[in-house]
Amino acid sequence: MSNTLTEQNCYFCKVSTGEADPFMFENRSFVGIFDTNPVNPGHALIIPKRHVASIFNMNEAEHADYFDAISGVKSVIETTDMTELYKHMLNRDYLQDRPKDPIETVLQLPFLANLPDAYTIGNNDGREAGRSIDHLHVILLPRYSGDVESPSGGIRNVIPGRANYQRK
Ligand SMILES: [Zn+2]
Repeated sequence: MSNTLTEQNCYFCKVSTGEADPFMFENRSFVGIFDTNPVNPGHALIIPKRHVASIFNMNEAEHADYFDAISGVKSVIETTDMTELYKHMLNRDYLQDRPKDPIETVLQLPFLANLPDAYTIGNNDGREAGRSIDHLHVILLPRYSGDVESPSGGIRNVIPGRANYQRK
């Protein structure tokens, strides 16, 4: 019999019950955490407490709480000292066996102390879209001027080579 609230061996079920990464945000249906493999300073995940794989299977309460979670996590990102966050993250016990290069890399970025200039909001909704854990996690990725050479096309770049819609 499968448990409707948590699934065994689901990392984000462990997160949502407080057994893994510390919450930086919580409301009725969601928790927010800072990703421990950040691709940019403030990279955060918004995770439903209930084990639900797809955004299209969210229940009524999750629908109602979704934007509160996104904007709540954004507020926390914008009021967090990123240098302190990542220095502390490097010292988390459970991360000691994992590669810490992503954390060390963001600590070196020239815009570490800046407020985000923009956001990429994403959800890999299915394995073919790149999801590796089948428990919904919405990515709130702060973007900074100069973080990539050319941000043009944004999320269209998940299909390389077909992202450019500008006329030559
Ligand atoms: Zn789960």
